[in-house]
Amino acid sequence: MRQSYDYFIQWHLTDRCNLACRHCYQQGVGYIEMPTGQILSFMDDHRDMLDGWASDYDLDVTGSYQFTGGEPLLRDDIFDILDAARAANFKTFLMTNGTMIDAAVAERLAHTGVEAVQISLEGIPSTHDYIRGSGSFARTAEGFRALAEADVDATANVTLSRKNVDQIEKVTRLAAEVGAKRIGFGRLVPEGRGLDMINEMLSADELAEAFNLIKSLRVDGIAAITRDPLSCSINDDPDPYSCGSTAVAGCAAGLSGVTILPDGTVMPCRRLNIAIGNINETPLREIWATNPILEDLRDKSAYTGKCGDCDSWDVCRGCRAIAYAASLTAGTPDYLSDDPQCLKARIPTP
Ligand code: SF4
Ligand code: SF4
Repeated sequence: MRQSYDYFIQWHLTDRCNLACRHCYQQGVGYIEMPTGQILSFMDDHRDMLDGWASDYDLDVTGSYQFTGGEPLLRDDIFDILDAARAANFKTFLMTNGTMIDAAVAERLAHTGVEAVQISLEGIPSTHDYIRGSGSFARTAEGFRALAEADVDATANVTLSRKNVDQIEKVTRLAAEVGAKRIGFGRLVPEGRGLDMINEMLSADELAEAFNLIKSLRVDGIAAITRDPLSCSINDDPDPYSCGSTAVAGCAAGLSGVTILPDGTVMPCRRLNIAIGNINETPLREIWATNPILEDLRDKSAYTGKCGDCDSWDVCRGCRAIAYAASLTAGTPDYLSDDPQCLKARIPTP
């Protein structure tokens, strides 16, 4: 049987937004947006790249797009882009703040065949409004309800910090009430405006407690999950895919996809704020195969801290964005350094 592999692109189509959230990693750079035609033409190149991999390496390769922003629904051509991606046989996801989704938008999303819409939710209404702006919870909840009415799968995404870590169960129930099918929990990355919330980052002990709660949570109609690489440390069973010094899971940076910014700049991950090329200048296949930063991210021996000696490296690697942001704050920028919230590292070595 051929090995299967999904290659995703998280595409920030615009950095315009109708909100100004406190922890946003964007810093209002004002990128020039690629026009529709250029975006559709890249999709053809992307399809050729995946077909090339499938034949060159005998892989079963699928491709997916996570379209986001800023607020992606601010782009007039968002539905043309979604339709074109589906027509080119990519799975499509939309990541939005949900405040622009009414019945008509939800119907249109259903029509494009989007796999799921991911909407940020920060906690109970007062916490959500504190982080995302007054009145935003009510508008976001309406967005969830409109999607449920149109039978579009919705996932709530929560950024965990000290502002909301005590609301995990409540926000899961709230998400279920407004019709979300899944709720995912991630961590605050202290960069962009999020740097102002650095003191709200959870300690490793607080994070372990949160992950254990998420793992044990059972709420009717909704699945609570975290894809955070560090959650591998609270799993009871060894990872069946574990295979030493080849990365197979955990942090996606350098492993299973890239981020593209509105002007075509490529990054390993939107939160790992390092440009590695531009799709308008260099084919993505070339960037993916030759960029030295991506090579470092895949090379266990290049890691500078505990990760390089860790037997969970292949399924974890920490969050490279948080490691980088923390090292930047300490004045020694290093995207291969320790993830400061590592759950394993808090246990003293005997
Ligand atoms: S750097 Fe962090 S946010 Fe980005 S893919 Fe890795 S774990 Fe996820
Ligand atoms: S040392 Fe690194 S690879 Fe190991 S568990 Fe911690 S963050 Fe993950």
